[in-house]
Amino acid sequence: MSKRSSATSSPIVECRPAEALDALAEQARACTVCAPHLPHAPRPVLRVSATTRILIVGQAPGRRVHATGIPWNDPSGDLLRQWLGVTRDVFYDATRIAIVPTGLCYPGTVKGGDLPPRPECAPLWHPPLRAAMPRIELTLLIGAWAQAYYLGERRGRTLAETVHAWRDFAPDFLPLPHPSSRNRLWLKRNAWFEAEVLPVLRERVGSLLAAGDNGAAPNTNKAVPRKPA
Ligand code: SF4
Repeated sequence: MSKRSSATSSPIVECRPAEALDALAEQARACTVCAPHLPHAPRPVLRVSATTRILIVGQAPGRRVHATGIPWNDPSGDLLRQWLGVTRDVFYDATRIAIVPTGLCYPGTVKGGDLPPRPECAPLWHPPLRAAMPRIELTLLIGAWAQAYYLGERRGRTLAETVHAWRDFAPDFLPLPHPSSRNRLWLKRNAWFEAEVLPVLRERVGSLLAAGDNGAAPNTNKAVPRKPA
């Protein structure tokens, strides 16, 4: 883990054993630490389970995710599921795939673009949440903010450099670009990503999911969100 993430354990919540994850997630969902800086009342969005082997770390909820509470329920999510080679059922089964963005709440927009995740958030919540998900073997770092937090000075000068150097971060981390339609040009210019990285991503995800036995803990996030019309 990066210097930054290991050096910034939560001032509020000490790491808990895995069985306390539900209580920890409840605490996170009630967090108001940076409320004065947010455009709306905090609505932390996360899907966690003590049995998951795969963690997805994106940027921060956008306006739509803030309104619905459902992450990746849009065309970007469809492309991400295609990259991972998983169905919606699997993607939204938190016992198999956890989702914790770099910032848990919608940070607002400026000039039509989303603001960065609040800087207080990841150091506060990621260390204890990860400690309570001890089976995580693969963390997917989607976009520059997730890569900055987890990889720190190990990341490249550009997102392309970081993703291209994916072997340097294996097997714990796999940096990815954001699967947004705005990144179509990036994907076209960096064809090696589809040819080289996606097969590795699918293979890792497939084998971790196939490892089965994700434990008998109840899945509190079982309902699969409906696809928006
Ligand atoms: S963004 Fe993070 S730190 Fe800020 S209120 Fe939401 S959960 Fe708390």
